[in-house]
Amino acid sequence: MAYLGEPHRTVAVLQKYNFHFQKKFGQNFLIDTHVLERIIKEAGVTKDDFVIEIGPGIGTMTQYLCESAGRVAAVEIDKNLIPILHDTLREYENVEIINEDILKVDISVLAREKNDGKPVKVVANLPYYITTPIIMGLFESHAPIESITVMVQREVAERMQCGPGSKDYGALSLAVQYYARPQIVANVPPNCFLPRPNVGSAVIRLTKHDQPPVEAMDESLMFRLIRASFNQRRKTLVNSLKNASDLPFSKEQIEDAVTAIGKSLTIRGEALTLAEFSALANILCRPNVGR
Ligand code: SAM
Repeated sequence: MAYLGEPHRTVAVLQKYNFHFQKKFGQNFLIDTHVLERIIKEAGVTKDDFVIEIGPGIGTMTQYLCESAGRVAAVEIDKNLIPILHDTLREYENVEIINEDILKVDISVLAREKNDGKPVKVVANLPYYITTPIIMGLFESHAPIESITVMVQREVAERMQCGPGSKDYGALSLAVQYYARPQIVANVPPNCFLPRPNVGSAVIRLTKHDQPPVEAMDESLMFRLIRASFNQRRKTLVNSLKNASDLPFSKEQIEDAVTAIGKSLTIRGEALTLAEFSALANILCRPNVGR
């Protein structure tokens, strides 16, 4: 029976093992049963699912996952937490604890070896200091992932979900929306964690697209255009792309492409939708342009 969501149970485990939080690992453990139940519900976890949990901590959410999923792989970087996890998860036979840095784990191999290559669900209360590398790493691995349901800093969740016209719109919004449909499913205040983070949090569900919503002939070029546009946010799109060291295009080629997608030469990158960035990339990747 999952019991660690009760604050006094968490405190008892921390005391038993004389555990000291490590700030460098972004350790803020969940101590709210309602939030834990909500995450499991929003992730839509069933007994048919193989779930990868990133950063199980002392195993609080892992206990809930073990009870609702078919199998769970829990990847934790902090070796001091491993004996604790073996203790708090001892009654579950459907969990594997992996002491590893998630950024070094090949999710495709994990899914192939543990789930016959079938799509997995990722569920986590993420360490906030590496939210973007974790999420982008999961998408860019092209591993079979059905959905990613994660607790992140509220601002970052908003950035993932918003579109042109919002001050939060940026390279992360476009990258996430290329791979998935983002939906913020809960806002979570600091008092639901131990220790309390000094930022608000939100649970966001990213449901992977079967096919990307736009057809980019050269995905890598599209993302280089996106990054260049937002690196120099206050500049026009044309100037940002012209100044980018990893883009080989002349000012004239860029202007022709911007005109061809029906945009003014004074437009800023932050006004473009994903479909427009992909159209721009599809023009610029033609063999007679640039390289
Ligand atoms: N899941 C637990 C909970 O909700 O109570 C803990 C969440 S805490 C926000 C983040 C966890 O991720 C910590 O246990 C931390 O040690 C772990 N972590 C940090 N960096 C990691 C990495 N690169 N790979 C795997 N785990 C990591």
